[in-house]
Amino acid sequence: MDSYKKYMLECIKLAKQALANGNPPVGSLLVFENKIIGRGIESGKSSGDITQHAEILAVKDALANGYRDVLEKSVMFSTHEPCIMCSYLIRHHQISKLILGVSVPFVGGQSSEFKILETENVPKWGNKPEIEMGILREECEILNEEFKDYLLKHFQH
Ligand SMILES: [Zn+2]
Repeated sequence: MDSYKKYMLECIKLAKQALANGNPPVGSLLVFENKIIGRGIESGKSSGDITQHAEILAVKDALANGYRDVLEKSVMFSTHEPCIMCSYLIRHHQISKLILGVSVPFVGGQSSEFKILETENVPKWGNKPEIEMGILREECEILNEEFKDYLLKHFQH
């Protein structure tokens, strides 16, 4: 359990980097056998490219690092519930465990009406991943507040 917190703190660090660049504060990691194999810093907003979500970037980082074959045995940590776009990628790679901070309204792959993370109706996706929600929840909620402050500061007139 302490290792969950350790990796979530690392995600929060990445999320703060995202925020510093004007992005929603989301940070993600992939961990295999107690080793970080991929890191993702949300950059959809700063790049203008919606696919640059933290979870997708963490998977791409792991792929670039040569860990394609162990993705399904790795654990994804993320400050936020993966959106439906990222959830598709997670299911495609059959990542079997997700440790998350806070849920995401409307477009979360578990909590919204689009339950990409939970469906068992896509045969090639196999079993749905185990999900633990609420690790360092308060710290992750503070990130959300900081993003709101950021938006107010930069876009108020
Ligand atoms: Zn996403």
